[in-house]
Amino acid sequence: MDFNQSKTKEYLARAFAGICQDGARYQFISKTAVSEGFNAISDKLKTIAKHKMAHASVLYQLMLDNIEEEKDNINIEAGYPFEQQILDTSLLISSEIEENEGKNIFPHFAKIAHDEGFFAVEEAFLNISKVNLADAKILKFLADEFDNEKLYKSEKSFDWVCSNCGYSESRKTAWQNCPLCSYPQGYVEISINEE
Ligand SMILES: [Zn+2]
Repeated sequence: MDFNQSKTKEYLARAFAGICQDGARYQFISKTAVSEGFNAISDKLKTIAKHKMAHASVLYQLMLDNIEEEKDNINIEAGYPFEQQILDTSLLISSEIEENEGKNIFPHFAKIAHDEGFFAVEEAFLNISKVNLADAKILKFLADEFDNEKLYKSEKSFDWVCSNCGYSESRKTAWQNCPLCSYPQGYVEISINEE
């Protein structure tokens, strides 16, 4: 199949554009988290944003590997979400977006790439979808714990760690201010319990 006539080419471009926008959104949400005092959540979001840039880079390279003319401008039509930057809703909406990408969108793109014979693209879409699902779980966990105000509470004693100075202490509820560096609770690292 001629790549230039393929659906795979369009889906690569769409996925690249979508992932770049996802990455930008996570950077924005991460700033919101900082402004609300949740620095450890912000760190998680920055990590997810970093994943997005890595995924975008893989897809960009696959496009370059297959395309004939490097300056070819590819027009795409697709919908992208615009959401208010409210931390808990952003986390929840983002988890739904990641889950949809991981369960539906990228597996579909992968199937088309397979049918058209672009197996490296298929593999990339499938591998990205796995990360989407893992990130969806993290975002859902954060959204739920945030809403239930359980981010810094544990049923059993737990080794809380200050992400600023590394101070660690085993207790049920994380400190309001770090005993060592005085940084607030928002800097306490969050352990993701995926159950
Ligand atoms: Zn500290």
